[in-house]
Amino acid sequence: MTATEEKLLEHHWHNLSLKEVAQILDSNPKTGLSAAEVSQRQQKYGPNELKAKPGKSPIVRFLLQFNQPLLYILLIAGAIKALLGSWVNAGVIWGVTLINAIIGYVQEAKAESAISALASAVRTEATVMRNGEKVRVSSTEIVPGDVVLLASGDKVPADLRLIDVRNLQVNESALTGESVAVEKTTQQIDVDAPLAERTNMAYAGSFVTFGTARGIVVAIAQDTETGRISQLIDRGTNLVTPLTRKFDRFSRTLLYIILGVAALTFAVGIGYGNSLVDMFEAAVALAVSAIPEGLPAVVTVTLAIGVSRMARRNAIIRKLPAVETLGGATVICSDKTGTLTENQMTVQAIYAGEKQYKVSGSGYSPEGEIFEDTATNDGAVAQKPVDFNANVALRECLIAGLLCNDSRIEVKDGQNAVIGDPTEGALIIAANKAGLNDSHEEAMPRVDTIPFESEFQYMATLHEQGRGRVIYVKGSVEALLKRCERMLDAQGEFQPLDTVTIQAQVDAMAHQGLRVLAFAKKNAPAQQTSLDHDDIATGLIFIGLQGMIDPPRPEAIKAVQACQEAGIQVKMITGDHAVTAQAIAQRMGFNHHKEVIAFTGQQLAQMDDRELANAVENAAVFARVAPEQKLRLVEALQSKGEIVAMTGDGVNDAPALRQADIGIAMGGAGTEVAKEAADMILTDDNFASIEAAVEEGRTVYRNLIKAIAFILPVNGGESMTILISVLLARVLPILSLQVLWLNMVNSIAMTVPLAFEPKSEIVMQQPPRNPNEPLLSRKLVQRIILISAFNWILIFGMFEWVLRDTGNVALARTMAIQALVSGRIFYLLSLSQLGVAIATRLIGRGRESFSDARAIVIGIVGAVILQIIFSQVGFMNALFSTAPLNWNQWLICLLVGLPMIPTAIIANRIDPIEKVSSRRR
Ligand code: ADP
Ligand code: MG
Repeated sequence: MTATEEKLLEHHWHNLSLKEVAQILDSNPKTGLSAAEVSQRQQKYGPNELKAKPGKSPIVRFLLQFNQPLLYILLIAGAIKALLGSWVNAGVIWGVTLINAIIGYVQEAKAESAISALASAVRTEATVMRNGEKVRVSSTEIVPGDVVLLASGDKVPADLRLIDVRNLQVNESALTGESVAVEKTTQQIDVDAPLAERTNMAYAGSFVTFGTARGIVVAIAQDTETGRISQLIDRGTNLVTPLTRKFDRFSRTLLYIILGVAALTFAVGIGYGNSLVDMFEAAVALAVSAIPEGLPAVVTVTLAIGVSRMARRNAIIRKLPAVETLGGATVICSDKTGTLTENQMTVQAIYAGEKQYKVSGSGYSPEGEIFEDTATNDGAVAQKPVDFNANVALRECLIAGLLCNDSRIEVKDGQNAVIGDPTEGALIIAANKAGLNDSHEEAMPRVDTIPFESEFQYMATLHEQGRGRVIYVKGSVEALLKRCERMLDAQGEFQPLDTVTIQAQVDAMAHQGLRVLAFAKKNAPAQQTSLDHDDIATGLIFIGLQGMIDPPRPEAIKAVQACQEAGIQVKMITGDHAVTAQAIAQRMGFNHHKEVIAFTGQQLAQMDDRELANAVENAAVFARVAPEQKLRLVEALQSKGEIVAMTGDGVNDAPALRQADIGIAMGGAGTEVAKEAADMILTDDNFASIEAAVEEGRTVYRNLIKAIAFILPVNGGESMTILISVLLARVLPILSLQVLWLNMVNSIAMTVPLAFEPKSEIVMQQPPRNPNEPLLSRKLVQRIILISAFNWILIFGMFEWVLRDTGNVALARTMAIQALVSGRIFYLLSLSQLGVAIATRLIGRGRESFSDARAIVIGIVGAVILQIIFSQVGFMNALFSTAPLNWNQWLICLLVGLPMIPTAIIANRIDPIEKVSSRRR
């Protein structure tokens, strides 16, 4: 630690005056640090991030690979073989378990690093003052002395001494365990005040739940209170999901069955008068044959591939179980603004001074003008240029939009772009179209602000006006009208408030899908320097309305259709007006293009839980919903047995995101609080990405089912062979080591490619999977039994035939195994899209498309090469008791695999995992 750093640590920041703090840190509380100063300090103090805790040591993780019940059997079997003196056998068994552990370890490490890399790709941002300007930076770039601006939803990026607070409330539960948010102040505090009472400090890692503030960074990274307490953060990734848990339960059950059957085999064999050693070999072979050794590796690979495919489609998975849950989603509740719509606002209609106006132009382009909307008798609209001085209310309405505004327009790549809220950007552009601009803002400097919060649905600003003061307020019609007493007319006189007419104008705009904002003002005493919610509770003067269009995203329209086709209901949850939301939902084809039922938050609040559950099933739009109500909506849907995906971006959305089966946060517009609570983050904030993620989630599940359907029949066939041979008192057609080869080497080479199977149209044409459905459905079990029986015939038949013909046991066993693999190749094809595509082409029924068959081809070629080595290489003959085949024998093995084709076709009929899609392109 350098001397300066030590000095920084020594200070009791909460006990110093603001001036002292700024002095020590050599910073300007107004303008922040200069860019040069920042880069100098970055050099000196390093990045603002906590060091990650090292995970479990590689050795522990490797050893954990052996902690599977199925592997115990192998280890014990190896040990007994060794005791019996079969050292080669024991060595191979142990070797195989070792290889299994290595493969498992590598796969797991890969999956883990892929997931944690994705999670850390979502960076935390903060707003700071640099060179006198507000900028967004990654929170890792923050240095001591930086001036940070906090707003509700932010994660506090470093330890701050607060210099200016406005209703700031911070949740410090991560630090103090206290879950109630703390009010903050700027007053100096006693030196010995405990952490929880230092209310003029905001500590890294806590969340702003309300209000805004400005603070100076006093400590970063490991020097923050959080850094000192926890020292290192836990970045461990959990690879356990409901599915892997099901697998664990499945393999444990399997283990007991195997042990039972193996014991029985042993007993029966001894009863027949066989030797102990022979029967032990049979029992071990049986136990080994029944264990799907390759399965755990395939599950991890499949999940990991799902995660990276989703990332490619803009959905970042934060919690692995979401990959599976997504595939089973039955309802998606989505925000409207920005997710279903573009969040590209353009004012199109204005109502002020009892006159209606239209605004031309699109997007944030400054071209366009405001003209009077005078409908003539025949319905045509006459365009009359506007004299802005003839309607005081219109002018005031535009000025209010310009001044009561926290956003600005910047030119990016030759185009106007909004920095801040698109709703506010639209208001600036509308004012610009009337020739109002920045000079107006300079004439009426802002004194104070109540920033916009979804909860209140309004924003207010206090301005100097000549020698007096004026308050401008903008917000939802409901929030404003109840605070208004009178209205401004075209001549600038105050008139009685005509709510009926105003409401009719609002409805007309909303029916066109316009987002309507109301504007009001109030004169304030000249000495007023701060603004409070109370100041604008009553006595406002209504000025006018502005209606803005926010076009639906074209890809979101398609995605809504795709979801509905896939049996997933889509619901819109928005803070916007009910009629506006309904118009947009209707336009986007919600509720299968039938009429869309909408409820408002107010209506929901009056319902009891039962009524709510029914309402929530039938309606597709929930408007003017307060964030707190989202939680009730999720619970109501879940009470109806739905699997709910819910989007959110604000601080108050976090509880709903946590309760939802899949909480989805916005990567762009989302607050840090929402991101932290979510299972998944959308990097493009787009509804279409949710649909894409569902599609990938379903594909993951389908691929896992394919893998199970592929692996288990080989275990089944092998077990049947050994059992029946013992019962019939025949020579074993397959030895335990050969079984291990098949189940490990061959299975992994041929099954892992199934994890790469691309998505197909069919996955989104089926209803969502029932989450309670067992891993092995009845149909899947039937399929497995059918293919197992076929495999038994192959092994047993081939072995008996060759043995009778040649009397060569090793050759008979080898040919039985090669025949099994040959049948297996055809079975793999029947499960893959490649096979389906080849088949439909061969029988001339359409051209089923397949996008990526590389993995399957590599898998098959790899398996064939390995089988050739298995029987043709002398060393392998010695290890696995195999014998080399000649050309004829190879050909026979290939041919006897062919009847797998009709068998697989029957299996596909019984249990169609991958149907030929019903919709031809
Ligand atoms: P959503 O994002 O679902 O449209 P919001 O909570 O952002 O809902 O907005 C709710 C309502 O608050 C809007 O319909 C609008 O009337 C009002 N509103 C939105 N943004 C602002 C803003 N920046 N200033 C004032 N009022 C706003
Ligand atoms: Mg919004």
